[in-house]
Amino acid sequence: MPSLRTWPVTLWVAPSNRCNQPRSSMPRKVCKDCQPENPYQRPAPHPGPRCATHWRAEQKRRKEAAHASHVAHVYGIGHRDYDHLKDLQGGVCAICQRATGATRRLSVDHDHKTGAVRGLLCRPCNNMLGHGRDSKDFFARAVAYLIAPPACRLTPEADQ
Ligand SMILES: [Zn+2]
Ligand SMILES: [Zn+2]
Repeated sequence: MPSLRTWPVTLWVAPSNRCNQPRSSMPRKVCKDCQPENPYQRPAPHPGPRCATHWRAEQKRRKEAAHASHVAHVYGIGHRDYDHLKDLQGGVCAICQRATGATRRLSVDHDHKTGAVRGLLCRPCNNMLGHGRDSKDFFARAVAYLIAPPACRLTPEADQ
C-alpha cells in the first residue's frame, strides 16, 4: 500500500471533477472568487456564491463599505478623510493614544454646536468628553484634581 505521499499526481482530482459520486451530492455551486488564484474552484456552501475564505473577505469588504457610507452620511467625511485623519493622529485615539480601533473602530468626534469634525476617538474617550459636556473648565478641574487632590489639604487629625 503506497503512502499518500507517493501516489502519482494523476490520481488526484479536483473536488468538482469527482465522478464516483452521485450527481446530486456533488457541490453544485462553486466560489466565484476562487478562479483567478486557484487552478480549481472551491465549493461554495450556503449562502454562496463564495467559499468560506472568500465569504469572510467579502463580509469584511461589506462591513468597511457600510462604515464608510455611514461616516460619509453622518459626518460628511469620506473614507479617505477618515484614514488620513487616523494617520495624522498616529493611528490611535487622539486622547488616550492607546486605542487603535482594531477591536472597535474609532468614532468620528464632532463639535455638537457647530457640527464640525474634531477627530477620532475611542468609545471611552468619546464618552468621557460627553460626560464633561465638552467643557474645558471640567477638564481643567480634572487636571487640577490630579495635580493637587483635595485630600492633600486635609490636616492630620489631632490624636495622630
Ligand atoms: Zn473562494
Ligand atoms: Zn481613547
